[in-house]
Order: sequence, then structure tokens, then C-alpha cells
Amino acid sequence: MNHMGIRSINTPNLNPLRAKIKAGEHEIPAWPQMSLQFRQAGLNWLSVCHRTIMSQRRTYYFDNNATTRIAPEVLEAMLPFLREWWGNPSSAYGFGKQVSKHLEDARTKVAALINADPKEIVFTSCGTESNNSAIESALATQPAKRHVLTTAVEHSAVIKHGEVLQKRGCQVTFLPVDADGALDLHLLDKSIRPDTAIVSVMWANNETGVVFPIEEIAAICRGKNVLFHTDATQAPGKMKIDVHGLGVDFLTLSAHKLHAPKGVGLLYVKRRVKYQPYLIGGHQERGKRGGTENVAGIIGFGRAAELAEAHLEDENTRVRGLRDRLENTILSTIPNTIRTGAKEPRLPNTSNIAFESVEAEAILHQLDQLGICVSSGSACTTGSLDPSHVLTAMGMKPARARGCVRISLGIYNTDEEVDYFLKHIPRVIGKLREDSPLHPGTARVTPAAHAEPAAKV
Ligand code: PLP
Repeated sequence: MNHMGIRSINTPNLNPLRAKIKAGEHEIPAWPQMSLQFRQAGLNWLSVCHRTIMSQRRTYYFDNNATTRIAPEVLEAMLPFLREWWGNPSSAYGFGKQVSKHLEDARTKVAALINADPKEIVFTSCGTESNNSAIESALATQPAKRHVLTTAVEHSAVIKHGEVLQKRGCQVTFLPVDADGALDLHLLDKSIRPDTAIVSVMWANNETGVVFPIEEIAAICRGKNVLFHTDATQAPGKMKIDVHGLGVDFLTLSAHKLHAPKGVGLLYVKRRVKYQPYLIGGHQERGKRGGTENVAGIIGFGRAAELAEAHLEDENTRVRGLRDRLENTILSTIPNTIRTGAKEPRLPNTSNIAFESVEAEAILHQLDQLGICVSSGSACTTGSLDPSHVLTAMGMKPARARGCVRISLGIYNTDEEVDYFLKHIPRVIGKLREDSPLHPGTARVTPAAHAEPAAKV
């Protein structure tokens, strides 16, 4: 493995050969023999070359809204709970109790990150589970209320769940947004009904970074005595989270968005809010979530929560500066590019840019060849060619939405990485436009020549 954890040419089949060469015990074979040996190892020259290049290539990671690198401090904190302290925290003997104590310490740390009481934290397996759990609980504890109010730009963990609820006979309203990705709070207020069980509105959008006024929405819900949940998955480390100041009943976080491992999340459940567990099983999490806790993951989450406080400053100054330099340079030097969504309020690390007349999938592929990781606004992960539901909800035409690329930076990005990105992106776009049947002219066309009116540049 190289430092990025990418498997190198050292396959088990070839290792003995390499070890012998290193030790001088093996004469380097002539090319035909070498070729034969690779063939015997199930490899061909092309794949060997490809794997060699892949293993030595540096990764320029600009997809921090998808997931984040585990911080070394987090990994360090976790390791003892994979090696030595592997007991079950629910066990009655000392070995288990010790683990339980550390788990509770981690609970205190994540609670501190959001200014909650540790008793208000329910550890889950991910942000998706937390979102599903909050909405299901609101419906289960208020059987007479069958309406859920949410927005058209939520993460699929809420949108798809809402669609399933509709099939189950619930009514779900997906509030529209404007071209900037903003919500009409007056409309939200009017859409709350006597049978609304819960309002669920994300804090920051994972595709555009657009931030919703959660405090105001929570106040509207409180005024109408309706439960309010916010999916704050993209917020930690970038925005200060204070559940009391926000006035929310439920709040979702996911550890892998803040430099902790995948497979851990939390749901904040405000004290005295009725809660029905989503996963039924043992008495873990004070009866609020069955299933043995992911101890090492939770320990990592706790350590990451401590670090997130410290990262706030860096994300809002240095990382914001890198994002702005990247975005402004692209918008000012590459013709027919448009920022997607409001400039502010927005996450400091996120930029979503529409490249006219180019498919985002093609851009992603070209950048991938250069070791640059970004993502598209479209549902690329499912292999679907449908444009992103977030961008279409913002009124964007499918052709433009298919050309949107999300660039999300993080604390490990450097000036030099931004330079590398900016060095390559004009050529990538220019070349793709030259070859694109979507492009009426060439990369040299002026911005006004065929662009739709800008949403917000
Ligand atoms: N909500 C938002 C806003 C997200 O960005 C994500 C992940 O991308 C999720 C929920 C789902 O989180 P998880 O991957 O932990 O299930």
C-alpha cells in the first residue's frame, strides 16, 4: 500500500519475486521471461503499468462533502478499542465496563460539540439512520398526525424516505426552493398543518453548500407546536452548532463528514421529546437504539468532535480563502461557467459550478485521470443520467444541471493543491468542449453567446 492506501504492484503473487530481486537472490529476468511471470501472476503489461501509475499517483481530494479523511489523532484514539479494549460495553464485568466508560466519555465530547446534554445523544450507524429515525419517531409517537413537511433539496436519506412514507399512506410536502436554493419561510409557515407530525429541513445543502435559516424555522415550528428536525450532517467543523440556540428537537450528524470513520452517526433528541426507537433490539443507548455500539467508531467520533471545534477557525478563514480563489479563478477565466446557488449564506468549503455544454461525468473522468477527486451534482453514483434533484428543484434546466461539478474542500487541502487544480481545469474543459456535440462553437465562445441567464454569478 502507498500512503493513500492504494494497493500497489505488490500483489501477493509478485511479492516473492520482488523480495528475491531486492535480496539479490534472483536474477532480473529477460523481458520475455518477465512478461511470462506477470502473465502467470494473472497480470498483463497494460494492467501492470496502470497499477504502477495508480499506486504512485498523488490524490488531490476535493470531495470533502462526500466523506473526509480520518484525522491521525482520531485513528490514534480508535486503535486501542480495536486492539486491546474490544469488550462489549453492555457486558457486566470490568472489561466491558471500562469500554462503556470510554464510550460515555465520547458521548460527552460529541454532546459538547453541539451544546447538548450527553443524555440527549443517541449513537446510530450513520446520518441516514438518524434522519430516518427522527421522522419515524415523530410519526410513531403521534399516530393521529400523518403529514411530514420537508424540502425538495434534502439529502436522499430524507427525500427517498419521504417517498416511502407516501406509499405507506402518509402525506409528505416537499417545499420548493428558488434559483438560489433558498426557502420561502412564509410558505413553510403556511404549509404546517394541524396534522403535521414533523418538519425536517437540512441545515446546509451537501451539493450547493447553501445554508438554511434553521433558527427561524425552529421558531416557526415552536410557535405551531410542531416537532422540528434538522439534518446538520454538513455543518460540524464549518459552523458552530448550539442545539439550544437553534431550538431544534432533533439534529443529525454523521462522523465521516468530520474526519472520523464511516458507520457512525448521532441523533440529538431533545430532553422530554417523546422518542420511539427505530431499531428495536437490546437496551443499548438507554433503550433508544437497539444494537451493539460501534465502539471504536464512536471513540473516533468523540475525538473528531474535539478537533472540529478547533477546525472551525481554519475552515472559515484559510479553507474559505482556498475555495474562493478556486471558484473566482474558474468563473473569471473559463467562459460559460456559473456558480450554482447563493453565494451566501453558504458553507465555507463548498463550490458548485455549472460548466456549460459539458457533461459533468466527462469532467469527473478527466480530472480523475489527473488524480483530482470532485463529484457531480447529478446522480452519478447510481449510474443514472438523471440530473440532481437539488439542481432541478432550483429550476435549473437538465442540460445545465448535467454540467454541474461540486468541489468541496477541507482542512487538509493546500494552496499548492488548488494551484494544481487551476492549472489543469481550463485545458480539461476546453478539450471536452472542443469534442462536445453540446457545444455550439468552441471553448472560445464568449460567455453571453449562448448561456442561459445566470442563476447567480
Ligand atoms: N445528509 C446529508 C446532508 C449528507 O450530506 C449525507 C451524506 O452525504 C447524509 C445525510 C447521509 O449520511 P451517511 O452517509 O452517514 O448516511
